Amino acid sequence: MLTWLKRRLRALMFMTLFLGGISYGSFTLALHPNLSVWEKDGNLIRSVTVREKVVALTFDDGPDPLRTPVLLDILRMHQTQATFFVVGSKAQKHPEIIRRMARDGHEIGNHSYSHRNFNHLNKWQILEEIRRTNQIITELSGHQPDLFRPPGGYLSYEMVDLTVKEGMLVAYWTWQQDSKDWRRGKPAPTIAAHIVEHIRPGQIIILHDAGDNGLQTARAVDIFLADLKQKGYRFVSMGELISRGAKD
Ligand SMILES: [Zn+2]
Repeated sequence: MLTWLKRRLRALMFMTLFLGGISYGSFTLALHPNLSVWEKDGNLIRSVTVREKVVALTFDDGPDPLRTPVLLDILRMHQTQATFFVVGSKAQKHPEIIRRMARDGHEIGNHSYSHRNFNHLNKWQILEEIRRTNQIITELSGHQPDLFRPPGGYLSYEMVDLTVKEGMLVAYWTWQQDSKDWRRGKPAPTIAAHIVEHIRPGQIIILHDAGDNGLQTARAVDIFLADLKQKGYRFVSMGELISRGAKD
């Protein structure tokens, strides 16, 4: 009887841990309880209400010396401007790519200095990640960034507060437009098909120009830009999309 009870209790304990783990996991990965409040207050942007068929194109985690220039060539071919959320330490290593982004008319956003897990950083370390990267981008591009995209989509009251106090917005993305393009082996046509299938005006598309799958992402951009431009869509930087929403 006692063994039976122990077994039941242990099963119950595992079940609680398991379910707790799942809800904790999705909570930290996907949403924060205050997300809609930040959005309503205009401190965090996930999409923009617009009347025209216009969407923002954003790329995270670069610059990468091999893959980013390929993507820049494709964007130039399509005469399209995007927003690059760059990692400060990588920007320092490849300043010529940041200068080219600026020359080609792209917007450059802040994606932290080290891309470390913000869960392990204190307030001062987070502030340093933001400020140091702003300084690097400003020196290289001549423009002070006003968009901050936290690594891994990390959100906390402290982080949002710091971002806003630095005069920046938390630059999130549209949930439906996260094709997980960075996954190794995901082919370009699959990434492109996801974007074409889910497209709606005012969305912020998230893609990744660095990392193992970066060349597939670049090819995907070539595919979906051709397709969606034919369907009347225009692609702009995130800052441009936000300003178009304000005018509506
Ligand atoms: Zn990232």
